[in-house]
Amino acid sequence: MEHWQLYKEFRFEAAHQLPHHDGKCARLHGHSWVCRVYIRGDRLTASGAKQGMLMDFGDLKKYMQPLLDEYLDHYYLNETLGLESPTSEAIAQWIYEQLAAMNLPGLDAVEIRETCTSGCIYRRI
Ligand SMILES: [Zn+2]
Repeated sequence: MEHWQLYKEFRFEAAHQLPHHDGKCARLHGHSWVCRVYIRGDRLTASGAKQGMLMDFGDLKKYMQPLLDEYLDHYYLNETLGLESPTSEAIAQWIYEQLAAMNLPGLDAVEIRETCTSGCIYRRI
């Protein structure tokens, strides 16, 4: 059995606040967030314009762009995501659920990085 895992990376700037945190994350602050959406599958497109592809990166972007434009980029995530405490874990899950609701084919996982060294991957098993 073989399979491919494909990803596309998206970046956005946004503020958040973790009200229950016992450190500096309780204060309003921002990050340059990085989001990777992972797709997996075991069959590539056999013919046509997308021959040899699991998914066209451009098609993947079409799913993410509305989320970036309406909820993520340059927003206050506590408000736009409706999350009291938008941790990396909660944001990754929120994005995954939105993409799942849009029936993104082959959705495997969503990764969120809030700094160069810290992040989280959410998937459903
Ligand atoms: Zn933070």
